[in-house]
Formats: sequence, structure tokens, C-alpha cells
Amino acid sequence: MSEKRSLNFIEEIVEEDIRNGKNGGKVFTRFPPEPNGYLHIGHAKSICLNFGLAQEYGGQTNLRFDDTNPVTEETEYVESIKADVKWLGFTWANELYASDYFDLLYAFALNLIQKGLAYVDDSSPEEIAAQKGTPTEPGTPKQYRSRSVEENERLFKEMHDGKYPDGAKVLRAKADLASPNMHMRDPLMYRIKHAHHHRTGNKWCIYPMYDFAHGQSDSIENITHSLCTLEFIPHRELYNWFIEKLEIFPSQQYEFARLNITYTVMSKRKLLQLVNQKFVSGWDDPRMPTISGLRRRGYTAASIRDFCDRIGVAKRENLIDYSLLEFCIREELNKTAWRRMAVLDPVKVVITNYPEGQEEMLHGKNNPEAEGGEGSRDIPFSRELYIEREDFMENAPKKFFRLGPGLMVRLKNAYIIQCEDFVKDENGQITEIRCSYIPESKSGQDTSGINVKGTIHWVSVPHAKTAEVRLYDRLFTAEDMGSAEGNFEDLINPQSLTAVTAFIEPDLTQAEIGRGYQFIRKGYFCLDPDSTSGNLVFNRTVTLKDTWAKEVKKC
Ligand code: ATP
Ligand code: MG
Repeated sequence: MSEKRSLNFIEEIVEEDIRNGKNGGKVFTRFPPEPNGYLHIGHAKSICLNFGLAQEYGGQTNLRFDDTNPVTEETEYVESIKADVKWLGFTWANELYASDYFDLLYAFALNLIQKGLAYVDDSSPEEIAAQKGTPTEPGTPKQYRSRSVEENERLFKEMHDGKYPDGAKVLRAKADLASPNMHMRDPLMYRIKHAHHHRTGNKWCIYPMYDFAHGQSDSIENITHSLCTLEFIPHRELYNWFIEKLEIFPSQQYEFARLNITYTVMSKRKLLQLVNQKFVSGWDDPRMPTISGLRRRGYTAASIRDFCDRIGVAKRENLIDYSLLEFCIREELNKTAWRRMAVLDPVKVVITNYPEGQEEMLHGKNNPEAEGGEGSRDIPFSRELYIEREDFMENAPKKFFRLGPGLMVRLKNAYIIQCEDFVKDENGQITEIRCSYIPESKSGQDTSGINVKGTIHWVSVPHAKTAEVRLYDRLFTAEDMGSAEGNFEDLINPQSLTAVTAFIEPDLTQAEIGRGYQFIRKGYFCLDPDSTSGNLVFNRTVTLKDTWAKEVKKC
């Protein structure tokens, strides 16, 4: 945005830290995705925030995969996450993995055991939950809590060596069983899981828990400001406890509100469910709020960054209107999209005074919004054209500035025509509109002296090509999908995808993936990767105007 906005609360903290010379004035951040799905627009907020802060204050950002859970993580996800962060326009200082630190974390755990601050517990998950007490009652220690350092050391090494089956033992921090913060009641540090890991293979059969990996990884990388979402507030005490007891670099955690958007879900688990249950065609289905889905839909990286900038960083949860995201891409495409003509619901027009067999080449600027128009393309014109069915009315009301018996309209980049007559079939459906054209009214050299109010788009029948045009709407019918779980069947919008066969002007066969096109009067579109030379597919990125009633709040 052009004007300088005020600092958000995280920038205020950072500036305060810099003023105080904390960490030598350095600002190191990280983006720590778990590679268990594709990134969504919520992650984009975190990416813009983390990379943006480091850029603003001369620091650096690591991309760190939080791959401590061997079961759900896959290399495909790692690759897609890297591609998406790059595409968003950010460059990480280091590509790192929590699994890079498995040896160090193991040593940290032994260190805590030696300090009498961690112990091996043989209890089942149910027993551990029961021992932890309730928020109003302190937990009750079991005999395992008083195991000697030597015994804990031996048992933990045996866990590491694969002596025990999954779930037989866990390593717990000896923190505070009476803490009002349940996360401090001797939280788990390690569990046994004989599972193949996407990077470390079968080397490990014990894996650190999130709380005993995240803060330590931050610390190992000298991360100064570790940004996470609000649900991690109760974890902060434990984050600090581990760092303090291990006497390692004092990274600090700060929490901000996660992004939620109307009419969609924002969790990899739920998005995976949409993919698995085939509600969508894949992670990059253009209806998905994933980065890859938005890209395929025709969103640009700049529009997503603009969106993240506009929503800002808050300390309280809120629900952002989907229209704001659409507003951001519409703003950009209005300035950059190349104008083309496509007729989505055709009816034929015959220009009775245009000689049969004659044709001519007209021209239209690629982008009238840009200086010089970014060149122009040829638009063939002939005696027979397609126009949109809705641009003709048999009994047109007064303010209908399109076609109807006797009415005149301008054909975009071409001539003024006047409707003389029309033909209906036996069902009352209009099959042909007969018009005359004014030869002196050619766009750019109009000497006719006739003024018409309306301009409509058209495509020449003998020159028209066809394309599949996919029109998208909200994926869900419910505005707030925050608490929706499990059964999406009843909440999916049955109109979320409509495919039509359109007639397109011939130049559109040269369309390129990655460029935005305005189909004049119809919206912004992009070429879909499903396209082949014989079968073009276009996605509607967004309509020209906000068709949903709600006002877009420009923040
Ligand atoms: P999900 O529930 O979608 O899997 P997550 O928080 O478990 O989300 P991670 O891969 O662990 O996903 O997240 C990587 C980073 O992105 C974390 O720092 C997380 O806080 C942040 N993040 C995830 N979702 C959002 C969101 N909706 N808004 C802002 N930040 C988010
Ligand atoms: Mg997660």
C-alpha cells in the first residue's frame, strides 16, 4: 500500500528490542510448516509476516520443516511448500528440518535427565491423563517420577535403542504437577514410534514431541522472534522452561491471530478431507484456499501479499470476508489483464447489409489501462456473429441499452448495429437476430454522428474457437466454517463449479498460463493447466464486480 501504515504490535516489539540492543539488534525469524499438506492462505499470512519482518529490519528467515511426526509427513508436501513460498516471492536463508536436530535434541533430553529434570514413565496415556489432575486439582505423582538419574538414563537409551514397543514408555519433563497451566504438568518430551521417517529413514524409533522440538530448534537457529498463532499461548511457559533449563539461546515466542476467511476451511486436515472425499479435484483445485489452488484460479503472488498486508496482524481471532481477497485480485487484474472477447451463452446475429463472404480484420488494444495499451490484437469481423443471449430482449424496457427490436448498440472494437428483426424456433427460443450495421461507425474512425449508450462484446461465427469455461463460486454455503467438522456433504455449495462451452475470439488460442485475461463484461479469467491445444480450459478468477452483497471493508 502506498501510504505508510502504523506499526503492528509485533513490529512494535521488534523495534523496542532493537532500541534495547537485544540480540545485538538482530531479527531472525522462521516459517515452520509441518509437511503434512499443501500451504493455504493462512500460511501465506504467516509467511508474509515472518519474511516481511526480517526484510524490514535487515534480518533473515529460515524455512524449517517441522517434521517430528513421521507418520503424516511426505516429500511431496515438502516440495510443494518450497515451491509455494518461492512463488509468493520470498527467499529463505536456510532450508532446515527439525529432523536435522534429532541428535542434538536427544543430547538435550539426556542433559535434562542428568539435571534431574526429565524421567521415563511407563504409564499408559490414560494413566498419564488421570495423574495430571484437573485445572483446579493438582496432579498426583507416580513412582516413576522418583526414578534415579541413572535409571532414567539407562531406560531412555534403551528406548532409543529400540528395546520397547510403541507406547511402552515415554520421556516426560519433571516440571510442575501443580501448575495451573496443564502444559506444565510433566509434559511428554519423547514417545516411541517404530515408523519410517521421510528423511531419517529407520534411524529413530523415538520422536520428540512438538513442545520439545520447536523451541529448541528456534534456539539452535538463534531465532529472535518466534511467531505462532494464538492457540500456542499456553505453550509459551513450557517453551521458556525448556530454554531456561537447557541454558540455550533465549528465543522468544509471540502469538498472533490466525487467519480465517468466510465460506472456506483453513486447516490442512480439513482440506485433505476435501481432497480424499473428492469434493474437489485435488489440493490445487481452483476452489481451494490453498496457495496452489489460488494460483491455478488466477491469483497472483502480489495480490496475495496485498491481501495479507491489508488484513494486518491482530491479537484477537476474527473472520475475514472472502470478498476482500477478491477485491485484491480484481484491483490488480483491472490494471494488468489483457482484454479479450468470449461469449458464454451465445445467440447468433446476422448483419443483413454486410456482404456474404466478406470479412475484415479489426483491432483492439490488449490493455487500455496501460500506457500504449501493451499492443493490440486482430479481431476478425464478418456477417455472422455470436453475442450473449442476455444482451437481447424482445420487449426491452426503457433503460435497456443493448439489443431489442429497433434498438442500436455498439459492438466492441467494431460497428454500431441496429436490430431489425429476429427469428424464434417452435419453443419460443430466439435463434437469430437480424441487424443492419452502420459502415461509417467503425471504432476509432467513427463519422456516423450516432451516439449509442451500450457496448456489447461479440465473436465472429466463422472465426470463433471454443473453450471450456469454468465458473466458480464459494466452496461452502455457510459463512463461518470455523467449527464445521467431519460431514461436509450438506455444506458444500452445489453451484461451486459450473462449466460452459464458450465461443472465444481466435487470439485466445494463444493464451498463456500465468497471464490474466479480462473477458470483456464477463470477468477475469486465466488459462487452466488442464488445457490442451485442442481443448482450451479457462478458469474464472473473479467476477468484474462483487456479486456478493457484503461491502468490502478497505482497511
Ligand atoms: P493446519 O491446521 O492448517 O495444519 P498448522 O498451524 O498446523 O495449520 P503448520 O504447518 O504447523 O500448520 O503451520 C506453519 C505456520 O503457519 C505456523 O507458524 C502456523 O502458526 C502458521 N499458520 C497456520 N495456519 C495459519 C492461519 N490460518 N493463519 C495464520 N498463520 C497460520
Ligand atoms: Mg500443525
